[in-house]
Amino acid sequence: MTSNVKFLRLKDSSFLFGAHVSAAGGVSNSVDNAFNIGCNSFALFLKSPRKWESKPYTEEEINSFKEKCKKFNYDPRKHILPHGQYFINLANPEKEKAEKSYKSFLDDLKRCESLDIGLYNFHPGSSLKGDHETQLKQLASYINKAIKETSFVKVVLENMAGTGNLVGSDLKDLKYVIDLIEDKSRIGVCIDTCHTFAAGYDLLDKSYDEFWKNFDEVIGFKYLSAIHLNDSKTPLGANRDLHEKLGQGFIGLEFLKRLTSSDFIKNMPIILETPIIKNDDEYGEEIKLLEWIAYENPSEDEFNKKVIMLQEAGATSRSEQMKALEKKSKKLATATKKRVKTEDEKLNPVKKAKL
Ligand SMILES: [Zn+2]
Ligand SMILES: [Zn+2]
Repeated sequence: MTSNVKFLRLKDSSFLFGAHVSAAGGVSNSVDNAFNIGCNSFALFLKSPRKWESKPYTEEEINSFKEKCKKFNYDPRKHILPHGQYFINLANPEKEKAEKSYKSFLDDLKRCESLDIGLYNFHPGSSLKGDHETQLKQLASYINKAIKETSFVKVVLENMAGTGNLVGSDLKDLKYVIDLIEDKSRIGVCIDTCHTFAAGYDLLDKSYDEFWKNFDEVIGFKYLSAIHLNDSKTPLGANRDLHEKLGQGFIGLEFLKRLTSSDFIKNMPIILETPIIKNDDEYGEEIKLLEWIAYENPSEDEFNKKVIMLQEAGATSRSEQMKALEKKSKKLATATKKRVKTEDEKLNPVKKAKL
C-alpha cells in the first residue's frame, strides 16, 4: 500500500493541511488516498453525493476504515471532516423536502459515528421563498433534533458565497443558528476562504485582521472548527462559488502567508477543495506549497517568483471571469433601467390623477 505514496506526510505539523479525497470503491479507501498525497487531515463524501440514499457500510468496511486510521495515524475525531451532500437543505420551507434532507443528514451523522469521526461539515442551505428567520429557526431545530439522536459528532456549518436567501453568506446567519443550538459543544463553523471572499468579505492586506476580528465578534473563535482553503476564480463580492487553485485566483498567495502565521487555525482540518485537472497529485503539490510557506520561511525573492508563476498560470481564467462579470453587470444595469422605466410608467397615471 505504501508504494503508492507520492508525497510524504509531514510529521508533527501543527497546521493540518489536507484535501477532499475520493472514497470510491469503499469508505476506507479515502484513508489511503489521503495518506498517499501527504494529508494531515482530509474530507470525503460519506455516501454518493448524487443520490439521496446509499447502502449502509458493512462491518468489514467500518473495521478497515478504523484500522487504516490507526495505521496511518489519523485521529478520526480530529483529522477527518466529511462533507454533506450539496442538496441537503434543512432550511427548505417545503416540509416534505426538508424532511427528506433531514433523513440524509441524520444518516450522515450516524455514518460519522460508526466510523468514529468527530466532525461533519455541511451547507446550511437556503430559505428559498420562505421567511428567512423562520427558516433559520427550522434549520436550528433540525440540528438540535439530530444532536439528540446522536452522541458525539460535531455539526459544522460552512459559510457560503451567494446572496439572498442562501443561508450563511452572511456570518450573522450562522450566529443566529448557533444561538438556537442547545448543546453548544456540538456545533461549529467552517470558513471556506473562496466563499468568504466571494461573499464580499475582504481577506487581503489589512482586511485580513478585520475579517477575523469581525468573525470573533459575530461568531466567536471557539466555534471555528475547520478551514476550507480555496482561491477564488471570481473577484471580491462576485457571489460566485468558483474555487481556484492556490495562488491562481483573486485571493492570491500573499494571503496564505498571513493564514499560515495565524495560530488560531492550528490543530484543525485545513482542507483543499481546489479544482483538480488530472489527479490527486495536484493536492499533494498544493499541500507541499502550503508547508513551504508555513515552515520553510522562503526568501522574499523566492516567494515573489512563486507569486508571479501562479498568477500567470491563472491569468486567462481571471480575465475571462472579469469579462463575464462585466457582461453580467451590464445586463443587470439594462434590466434595472427597464424596471425603473416600467415602474415610472405605472406611477405616472397616479401622479396625473392627483394633479
Ligand atoms: Zn462545501
Ligand atoms: Zn468548501
